[in-house]
Amino acid sequence: MTDRPRLYLSPPHIGDHELALVKEAFATNWIAPIGPHLEAFEAEVSSLVGIRHTLALVSGTAALHLALQLSGVRPGDEVWCSTLTFAGSANPIAYLGATPVFIDCEEHSWNCDPGLLAQALDDAARHSRLPKAVVVVDLYGQCADYEPIVAACSRHGVALIEDAAEALGARYRGKSAGSFGRAAIFSFNGNKIITCSGGGMLVSDDVELIRHARHLSTQARDPAPWYQHSEIGYNYRLSNVLAGIARGQLRVLEDRVLARRRINRMYQDQLGALPGITFMPMTDSSDGTTRSSRWLTVIQVDPALSPVTAEELRLVLTEDNVEARPVWKPMHLQPVFAGTRVIGGSVSERLFANGLCLPSGSAMSNADIERVVGLIQRKMGY
Ligand SMILES: *Cc1c(COP(=O)(O)O)cnc(C)c1O
Repeated sequence: MTDRPRLYLSPPHIGDHELALVKEAFATNWIAPIGPHLEAFEAEVSSLVGIRHTLALVSGTAALHLALQLSGVRPGDEVWCSTLTFAGSANPIAYLGATPVFIDCEEHSWNCDPGLLAQALDDAARHSRLPKAVVVVDLYGQCADYEPIVAACSRHGVALIEDAAEALGARYRGKSAGSFGRAAIFSFNGNKIITCSGGGMLVSDDVELIRHARHLSTQARDPAPWYQHSEIGYNYRLSNVLAGIARGQLRVLEDRVLARRRINRMYQDQLGALPGITFMPMTDSSDGTTRSSRWLTVIQVDPALSPVTAEELRLVLTEDNVEARPVWKPMHLQPVFAGTRVIGGSVSERLFANGLCLPSGSAMSNADIERVVGLIQRKMGY
């Protein structure tokens, strides 16, 4: 090991306003899962994303749980989900006693393969076995190809839920990430593009869905002077204190996106010519109407062309106290989902086998990037 300072994959990057906003919460005694920061945060995300209704929650996972439940998912239903993702995309399916079915990604975007999805939905419709909902993930900050995905889901009347946990600030054909499904979720966990230490958001144009979600997220209290409940609720509401942090972070979101995009470009400039190294394909348009947030910079190391493997690079970085991680292990390869049906799977398996996520935090200096680049170049003999 080394005494070099730790370089994290994606640490929090706090701006100039968060502390003042938290102090305001203390000064006004709004230390509760209710208060002015919470309402302001919801309104700000609503106007940023261009979605009418928003609900701030304790996590992105909680938001997805409510989105699925309020899309009518019940025990025994099928819910289809991108396989190349974090467990937070799939666990809520299990919370509801539903059956996950995982679906492979396409080479072009690393997101849910629209052709595969459309064909599988057509097949399922013929056998009257349509899923109740489909969870599509915007991987590493890049939107999935929603035009054909939305068309396939609406043709079959299947609810589309967008998992935009990694994609706040991204766009697809002029619309913001988070605006493509019946509902969408964001995460403000510590490693995400902006953070309030832990938090999430459910967004939808469906006023009734958000109203019901708000009710369920606060223990489903009926309007009565005594505590009365007609449904099982959850304690999922975000704290007003954390909403203060989140509001400060929202003010610097665009800076954070631009910083991550710049870091990605520097890695590409300096590593793109090495044998066997390629980057996550970018679906960005030149006019900016489609853009990734580049939450993480991710490379593929082709073992047939590169003198080293992705795992060897990861170990070299780890030895120098640099955190790098494999691409998400596909859900259909997870022990907890053993035996689950998967539609396709070989693309995500290869991306996992050869993939490596590089440190991508928006506070990284040029020297930090050169440290990572230098370690990779030296290991590869350059
Ligand atoms: C982080 C993440 C989640 C879960 O969000 P939390 O706020 O950590 O619960 C869900 N899906 C994806 C793709 C994520 O990256």
